[in-house]
Amino acid sequence: MTLRNSRPVLAWRTLAATWRWTPGSACQICASWQRDAVCDECQRRFLRPCHRCRCCAAALAGLNEVCGRCILRPPAFDQTLAAVDYAYPWDGLVTRFKFGGACELARPLADLMSEALWTAAEQIGFEPPDVLLPVPLSAARQRERGYNQAWELARRIGPALEVPSHARWVERVLDTPHQTGLPRAERLHNLRGAFAVTPAGRAGLAGRRVAILDDVMTTGATLDALAATVRRAGATAVQSWVFARTVSDDAAP
Ligand SMILES: [Zn+2]
Ligand SMILES: [Zn+2]
Repeated sequence: MTLRNSRPVLAWRTLAATWRWTPGSACQICASWQRDAVCDECQRRFLRPCHRCRCCAAALAGLNEVCGRCILRPPAFDQTLAAVDYAYPWDGLVTRFKFGGACELARPLADLMSEALWTAAEQIGFEPPDVLLPVPLSAARQRERGYNQAWELARRIGPALEVPSHARWVERVLDTPHQTGLPRAERLHNLRGAFAVTPAGRAGLAGRRVAILDDVMTTGATLDALAATVRRAGATAVQSWVFARTVSDDAAP
């Protein structure tokens, strides 16, 4: 796949140029006082390029483009772009962002994701989506947390990349208990019927290329279930965009 035109790349270059987002703050990782949310030294140490499965972004040791699991059972999404491994120090940032009420981390995490997407567009090429959808939380989970971490990322990334983002085109109608430790097949079973397309989504998704966005991909079961839902509503292509990809299936909280 290639970029259809230069508009998104130009937008992403503009975003990259504004990456140094604050006149002074403590690095979110090492706490040194400098300009960036994550300092240059920490980016050099911890933002390592990694060969990943084109489909699910699992780290691959060999030169294969797609991992064995995606060959055996292709997920409903076509491609996944991940900014980092779910490992030190990013796992700590995600935990603070997701469970510690540190909503202010949305901006630096969104900037890191946007940078990774921009790099991927230049290096491997992919068609930019028409629409960006955050993975929805159930109403109860969102009330409990106070915000949807995926929407906090999407609403910053979407405008910067000139991709409209919609928080209310899909909804989570079935809450599932924490799936940590469950095998992928069981997770998929639990997620059956978890997502529904709203009337606005039904009107908007037909014939569109969609990116679905979450903070972390573990087994990919959640994104798989959501991708299948938006495909049934007529989406012609689905990408997954995640901040972090786990190294093993059980690593995420
Ligand atoms: Zn640092
Ligand atoms: Zn894969």
